[in-house]
Amino acid sequence: MEFAIKYIYSFGTMALLAVAFGISLPFDRSEKLSRVGLGLLFGIAATMAMNNPIPIADGVVVDPRNLFIGLSAAFLGLWGGVPALLVAISARYNLGGPGVEAGVLSMTIAWCAGYAWSYIVRDKVHYHPGYLLLLGGMISFALIGIVLLPRDAMLRIFLVASPFVIAFNLIGAMLFGGLLERERIIAFRYGRMQDEAVTDPLTGLLNRRGFTRIIDHLPEKTLNSAGAVLVVDLDRFKMINDTYGHDTGDSVLVSVAKQLQSCVRKSDVLARFGGEEFVIVLPETSEVEARQVAERLRETVCAIRVTLDSDALPVTTSIGGHWDGNGINLLTALRLADRALYRAKQEGRNRTEFAFAPAVADYSKAA
Ligand code: GH3
Ligand code: MG
Ligand code: MG
Repeated sequence: MEFAIKYIYSFGTMALLAVAFGISLPFDRSEKLSRVGLGLLFGIAATMAMNNPIPIADGVVVDPRNLFIGLSAAFLGLWGGVPALLVAISARYNLGGPGVEAGVLSMTIAWCAGYAWSYIVRDKVHYHPGYLLLLGGMISFALIGIVLLPRDAMLRIFLVASPFVIAFNLIGAMLFGGLLERERIIAFRYGRMQDEAVTDPLTGLLNRRGFTRIIDHLPEKTLNSAGAVLVVDLDRFKMINDTYGHDTGDSVLVSVAKQLQSCVRKSDVLARFGGEEFVIVLPETSEVEARQVAERLRETVCAIRVTLDSDALPVTTSIGGHWDGNGINLLTALRLADRALYRAKQEGRNRTEFAFAPAVADYSKAA
């Protein structure tokens, strides 16, 4: 009876840890601090387990500490696994008794097994239950630690306890590991859905929703620096579609997106705003630089040649821009840049226009 109660009790602890693991995941994808916190919780769970052993025969007890330690290394990586192991090792030293070295060796082996397992399953999003059984089996190598016990104790534990330990590890890895894995998959899907919601599937750029979200997160939708907004619209794109087909149009869009991406800095924001229209925000940029970037973008798109069966298809673009030296309100800038784009189209296309008349002569050669 006591055996059953303690057994269920340890699975309850595992379920609670899995909940804590699940809560921490959506907020971080690699946040080290929360890993350390979770690792400490796993270490405390291992400590509670060794303070509350399960009697299985006269003088022989087992506890699932190795499972906690192995799974911490398997699911929390170094940042969570190392704190878990350190807490458990110090708790084992604190407990004292003749089996200290054996206990520490066992936990270290369980830890290494869990860590090695995480390498075996890395890149595999949906673990097969077989992988969890493998984890339980690998953690069972922790039994090797009993070689440090006196010979009599070692034999007794090996003969009496090892079947229980192995069964406990296999079932525990399936249940506990299954819960952790379930939380991980939910967080992974949640993250992917969030990414997909703000990504344009054709070009992989930020979509309009993602761009709007960035604007909405800015205080008063304003960049706290001098900067510019550029609106890039492909010229006569409808004709490209009508002449060469929608698929060719799509590959033009992909090439343009790649080229635009290669021309901007990491700190700039580039988004596909609509069909054949892209928007670029250039923070911390002077007026001269903004005009140079716009001109460079236009020239880069101009150099794109989409090769068709017979000939190479030229692509051109018109760009409207707005620069502001006193913190740029993005909604206003978008409106003004759009107006400048209209002017660029009216004045013959394949050109850049800024909302206000250029302060300096010709930047096209400076790019
Ligand atoms: P302008 O020089 O005045 O900008 O002329 P335009 O033909 O580029 O502009 P218009 O707005 O008339 O046409 C835009 C075209 O873009 C129409 C639409 O079929 C095409 N388009 C929008 N989204 C996509 C897309 O995802 N793939 C493809 N292939 N075409 C698209
Ligand atoms: Mg167009
Ligand atoms: Mg357009």
